[in-house]
Amino acid sequence: MLPPLCPSSSRACLYFRALKLIKRHCLPSLYIAGYASTTSVSRITTHYTIYPRDKDKRWEGVNMERFAEEADVVIVGGGPAGLSAAIRLKQLAAEHGKEIRVCLVEKAAQIGAHTLSGACLEPRSLEELFPDWKERGAPLHTPVTEDKFGILTKKFRIPVPILPGLPMVNHGNYIVRLGHFVSWLGEQAEALGVEVYPGYAAAEVLFHEDGSVKGVATNDVGIQKDGAPKASFERGLELHAKVTVFAEGCHGHLAKQLYKKYNLREKCQPQSYGIGLKELWTIDEKKWKPGRIEHTVGWPLDRHTYGGSFLYHLNEGEPLVALGFVVGLDYQNPYLNPFREFQRWKHHPSVQPTLEGGKRIAYGARALNEGGLQSIPKLTFPGGLLIGCSPGLMNVPKIKGTHTAMKSGILASEAIFSQLINENLQSKTIGLDVQEYEENLKKSWVWKELYSVRNIRPSCHSVLGLYGGMIYTGIFYWILRGLEPWTLKHPGPDFAQLKPAKDCTPIEYPKPDGKISFDLLSSVALSGTNHEHDQPAHLTLKDDSIPVNKNLAIFDGPEQRFCPAEWSGRQKKVLLRTDK
Ligand SMILES: Cc1cc2nc3c(=O)[nH]c(=O)nc-3n(C[C@H](O)[C@H](O)[C@H](O)COP(=O)(O)OP(=O)(O)OC[C@H]3O[C@@H](n4cnc5c(N)ncnc54)[C@H](O)[C@@H]3O)c2cc1C
Repeated sequence: MLPPLCPSSSRACLYFRALKLIKRHCLPSLYIAGYASTTSVSRITTHYTIYPRDKDKRWEGVNMERFAEEADVVIVGGGPAGLSAAIRLKQLAAEHGKEIRVCLVEKAAQIGAHTLSGACLEPRSLEELFPDWKERGAPLHTPVTEDKFGILTKKFRIPVPILPGLPMVNHGNYIVRLGHFVSWLGEQAEALGVEVYPGYAAAEVLFHEDGSVKGVATNDVGIQKDGAPKASFERGLELHAKVTVFAEGCHGHLAKQLYKKYNLREKCQPQSYGIGLKELWTIDEKKWKPGRIEHTVGWPLDRHTYGGSFLYHLNEGEPLVALGFVVGLDYQNPYLNPFREFQRWKHHPSVQPTLEGGKRIAYGARALNEGGLQSIPKLTFPGGLLIGCSPGLMNVPKIKGTHTAMKSGILASEAIFSQLINENLQSKTIGLDVQEYEENLKKSWVWKELYSVRNIRPSCHSVLGLYGGMIYTGIFYWILRGLEPWTLKHPGPDFAQLKPAKDCTPIEYPKPDGKISFDLLSSVALSGTNHEHDQPAHLTLKDDSIPVNKNLAIFDGPEQRFCPAEWSGRQKKVLLRTDK
């Protein structure tokens, strides 16, 4: 299954390129003259949250009425977290002989279509949800048989023994095509009576007058790129619920609104992110070792750039490998290009031979949370709650979040169900405040697991960089199992770690050879993403001047390098890395 990539925004792209030319020829003088603070830019963003429609003449007379549907629980996002929550609710309703209406909206056209394939799944939560998952035909075909970990130098691979108890131990886990697994969860949910609506993105959070969440509204359709209504304009639908579960995954845009509205991030550290790039290859059968897991750190990244690679051999009836590269978005050099780091990593003498003679069949990229326990916000608020990677329940050193996402969905639903059926529980607000979920999550194995690895990621910020983190892990995780009484802090938000371009050296990347490494255009063509030409960019700039006045002027436009679809989608990454 294929992932979402950033949508294209050709107008922004042209604009940006033009300004890059201006910068190349005139910036030194402009910059000295205070360019960064004085240049005015024309409008890039057309989104109605920035340019309200009621002040826009083109929207006069357009019928903005929305139909509303009532459910008991609405779930936003059909990933492992949202689907587990939906399934558990219906299981509980069936066990107790109750009728509850559960609606789930998923923005992908099919369930699983926005999920990056090729993952190592810890089956713990699946076993809790469906003890009979094997009989039900869950697509877990490849038990892990071999774990390899190495440090790469430019030419060599230094093997590192994986001692029992380290996060990289994968025995007992399964290598899966995560998109297939999610699609299977979708089928189970529908069979239990969940109303699953793929192709519907929740675009807006709705509130009751008492301030509690009332539900969500799905996206309007039929809007031009410049923000005007087309003749085909159709208003979205309102879905109201007693509880709305937000399971949007990493960096969801509704979650960001909720953080603000309920001050949910008041007591946690800023979230930190990574960008993960993945490819799926069919390889020569002789090189195929189903069940093998390989991870590396080191080359091509320097020790101050967090990241590493994975390569999983799948057993899906054909010789498939899923390989990928993760780069922490708190890197310092604005010239770094995660996509091209990934491409050159494939040429390492310990990697290339596996791919030679093979064929790349898919490419995708996606953000992941790296803040860990320290960056988890408050999870409940009147009328709603956050589950899965939305609040960042990912085990970072393991690069695994499916099992924790699923368990959070299960626990959320158990708490919601008990509140729904308990008539004696009086809610202060119309939307129910299910605080029991957060309390139960903190008592569960998810919290214990995230607590034990909490210091691993921040320990990579010493002068020794990643290697300092490895030493720390050896001492405090392997020996003490994370029981040290302190909790390390992250140095701050990712964008604040980026150094000005003038203080950094541009990185020369080798040209792709078209066999092992590829250019971005041919990669994006394999991502399965498809966007209408005349539709608004999915990403919204809060301030149209930032790409030019700040990112370009100071950091040489890092978004042209860190966006996994190059020019397109730069707005989101701008906000992610450089906007407060
Ligand atoms: C490169 C990479 C490698 C990984 N490898 C592993 C691994 O090996 N093992 C592992 O366990 N985990 C791995 N993970 C992490 C794993 O993918 C996540 O932890 C897991 O998918 C989280 O599940 P979720 O349901 O919370 O979020 P997601 O899987 O992100 O699902 C969220 C869903 O919500 C939908 N959505 C978002 N916003 C809206 C909206 N407004 N309206 C409607 N729908 C919406 C999205 O389309 C998506 O389908 C990896 C992640 C990355 C990026």
